[in-house]
Amino acid sequence: MPITWNHLLPTARYLLPTALLLMTGCGDCRSQGASSGDGGAAGPDAEPDAGPPIVDGVRDGLMGTEFRVSIAGEEPARAREAIEAALDEVARIERALSPYRDDSEVSRINRAAALEPVRVSPETLDLLERAREVSELSGGAFDVTFAALSPIWRSLREDPPRLPADEAIDEARGLVDWRRLELDREAGTAFLPRRGMRIDLGGIGKGHAVDRAGEVLTKRGIENFIVGGGGDLLVRGRKLSGPWRLGIQHPRRRGELMGELDLPEGGALVTSGDYERFVEIDGTRYHHIIDPRTGRPVRGTTAVTLTAPNATLADALSTAVFVLGPEAGLALVERTEGVEAILVDGEMNVTISSGLRDRVQLYESR
Ligand code: AMP
Ligand code: MG
Repeated sequence: MPITWNHLLPTARYLLPTALLLMTGCGDCRSQGASSGDGGAAGPDAEPDAGPPIVDGVRDGLMGTEFRVSIAGEEPARAREAIEAALDEVARIERALSPYRDDSEVSRINRAAALEPVRVSPETLDLLERAREVSELSGGAFDVTFAALSPIWRSLREDPPRLPADEAIDEARGLVDWRRLELDREAGTAFLPRRGMRIDLGGIGKGHAVDRAGEVLTKRGIENFIVGGGGDLLVRGRKLSGPWRLGIQHPRRRGELMGELDLPEGGALVTSGDYERFVEIDGTRYHHIIDPRTGRPVRGTTAVTLTAPNATLADALSTAVFVLGPEAGLALVERTEGVEAILVDGEMNVTISSGLRDRVQLYESR
């Protein structure tokens, strides 16, 4: 459940991340509601007419959100075992990537900024390379070194929330540059060459965890599943009565869907939204996606839902497209093979990329 800090000023709200997308085997998403908690097919008996059951497993508090795995058409005991293994994989990845754990690889890299290169696992090095590819692709809109700005923006969490000084933002902005992150394949190290530089994989890590959890299932021979973490989904196969239906959370109406679609060939569907974590001060919304060009939360985008062949790419690209905004963001989507998106701008206008237009069912606004 999302939590509101009621003791804050009436103009200020700070929400914990909530699951953005309904991941479900629902036949009719609309009638099933959109809260992450009741996510449609809730248990082994969720599809009375469909023969073999859908088995569902949920674990909360992973990477600051809830992860859920749904498996169709497997013997329940086998499915449950696979779900536990997949969720354990997410927990393992969180230990490596969390900036909140002193012993994570990310924290070690940050602590050693300007001091020394840090040996990290090939997996983390790979992920940093993937992040760099998306930085390149997006002209730096996606940039894991945005995190130099994180300590400054923590003032939003004070009571009452406070905006940082312009000078502090400008100074920290000078430390944001993905090109300066040194990755050495041979030595197996990552290095931040300047004091105050930091990385945070919050814009790509959940997608990576979702992909790896999916691999755990695939290796066990499971073919029909959804893995979801926060707003990131990976879909494989189908439920027995048809394709998995995926709901898109309405960005302004909590618990309501904006539309739905399916991914019959499988793939990832990921959302970045300004409603995941935000504070409102004097009518302006300050949220968790930072524009590296300004050093400030992005303006002019409300939500981006994006599909790609895998969740790691989808996660990073959804954040990148969110930063770029509807126009440049759509251009990036259109020129990237296998990637489609639904973009909601600051005025709630919805744009759908060319390959998805006929496949998304948007509800009339009610
Ligand atoms: P998402 O919900 O996937 O869009 O990711 C949002 C998270 O990405 C934030 O909580 C930050 O950890 C991280 N982030 C924010 N701004 C950026 C950025 N410009 N580039 C890369 N990661 C970012
Ligand atoms: Mg992302």
